[in-house]
Amino acid sequence: MLSGAVAGGVFASPPPASILAAILSLWQGGAAGVLLVVKNYTGDRLNFGLAAEQARCQGVPVNMVIVADDCAFNQPSKAGRRGLCGTVFVHKLAGAMAEEGLPLETIVSRVNEAAKDIGTLGVSLSPCSVPGSLPSFQLPPGEMELGLGIHGEPGIKRSKVAPADEVVKTMIDHMSDPSSQSHLAIKSGDHVVLCVNNLGALSCLEMAVVTKAAISCLEDRAIVVARVMSGSFMTSLEMAGMSLSVMKADKEILRLFDAKTSAPAWPNLSCEPVSGRKWSVEPPQLIASHEITHRPGPLSDVMQKALQGVCEALLQLQEELNMLDRAAGDGDCGNTHACAAKAIQEWLQGRKLPGCPGQLMTALASLVQEKMGGSSGALYSIFLTAAALPLLGQDDPAAWATAVHAGTEAMKRYGGAEPGDRTMLDALCPAVEELQRLSSSPPTGAMAVLQAAVERAKAGADSTRSLSAKAGRASYIASEHLTQPDPGAVAVAAILQAVLEALGGGLAPE
Ligand code: ADP
Ligand code: MG
Repeated sequence: MLSGAVAGGVFASPPPASILAAILSLWQGGAAGVLLVVKNYTGDRLNFGLAAEQARCQGVPVNMVIVADDCAFNQPSKAGRRGLCGTVFVHKLAGAMAEEGLPLETIVSRVNEAAKDIGTLGVSLSPCSVPGSLPSFQLPPGEMELGLGIHGEPGIKRSKVAPADEVVKTMIDHMSDPSSQSHLAIKSGDHVVLCVNNLGALSCLEMAVVTKAAISCLEDRAIVVARVMSGSFMTSLEMAGMSLSVMKADKEILRLFDAKTSAPAWPNLSCEPVSGRKWSVEPPQLIASHEITHRPGPLSDVMQKALQGVCEALLQLQEELNMLDRAAGDGDCGNTHACAAKAIQEWLQGRKLPGCPGQLMTALASLVQEKMGGSSGALYSIFLTAAALPLLGQDDPAAWATAVHAGTEAMKRYGGAEPGDRTMLDALCPAVEELQRLSSSPPTGAMAVLQAAVERAKAGADSTRSLSAKAGRASYIASEHLTQPDPGAVAVAAILQAVLEALGGGLAPE
């Protein structure tokens, strides 16, 4: 792209000696000629002009193009339009032609032609300040400045801050207003390259919003946006603003624009036109699993009874769980469990449950994911989703053992907690360990296994009183403040107890 750059002081033109040194370095390095790409400011014209004359005296073929792409002033002064970010387009085109070995004079005449079809306008929500100095101008909060230069000079118009779409429309209207002497003549059907340039302090998010708005605004005028570059190309220190540069582009201009360059700041753009590209795809229509009706079976009634028992138990525990969560978290653990219970009760109304426990688990996972909320909602949904798989098409005790094990493992994997971290896992894991005996015990022994699992869950929940929390919100609380059991663990024990009772075993609740 460029073979050299000459820096002056901040916002000041470089001295001619520096420019001459750059020219002579290139010449001695084997350049066939040197093209100076200068932005139209009096100081730059003078210093670059002087250095060019001095270099010519030493026999160096030097030429100069002056870029004046500013669209701010309807009637520019004698000094003419300023050179702004559109200059970056000129760098790119000239660089590509030089790389192809075109003669200096040809490059100059083509670049001068292309530069006539480039326009730029800036807007900012803040001034900038030269390091160590006061801000370059004052801009009250809620106001924005249109038509800025790049050296901290104020713009041509001040107005209230408006949404990005409106700001961009105002800018493009102004840039293309035929009554302005410095307008860019763009009309429907024209192909353009757009540069959305960060003046320094906009976030990537803001840049993306403005870029999308600028593309849409041009397309609304039936202008074909061939390429878009968005980023920091010509900044104004920390100015919270951006400029839009538009270059009309025929096939040849696009070819030069697309030419490969190793310049590290040059964006690696696609050669596909932006207009006409599909920006979004319709998301697939997902049917929530709990809205699908499945065939009932012999297990439907007993599973329904167990679920009803679980819901009632959780609703009864609502205040206690909230109280426990107030001590260790945000006080909503009872509410999240109650939300799940109410959603399940409502879902059960007039419904015959699927006979396949895997299908029931999948439906519950989807209900809980949608209605429960909190960490518990995601954790239970993960548990139920992973537990569903071994229970699709199988419902023997061994399949249940595999299912609860798979659910717990998934909860550990995604939640990152282990038993001992003061979470529901402290009740769940011992119970699930006990339930693994279902794989080997005779079917008649299943209730005894469940009974033992409930006891282990209760003991596990109680053990959390003395554990310091390593996961969940409670982990941010000093352990000396944690003297009560973990609410999630208490809920797990209550759920298992309710299942046991519904299946006809166990003792009455305490
Ligand atoms: P939130 O913390 O988002 O408010 P809830 O109040 O619904 O969620 O649930 C809190 C319970 O979630 C805790 O008591 C704890 O048992 C459980 N929990 C939190 N994080 C984890 C985790 N990573 N793994 C397992 N259980 C967890
Ligand atoms: Mg909570």
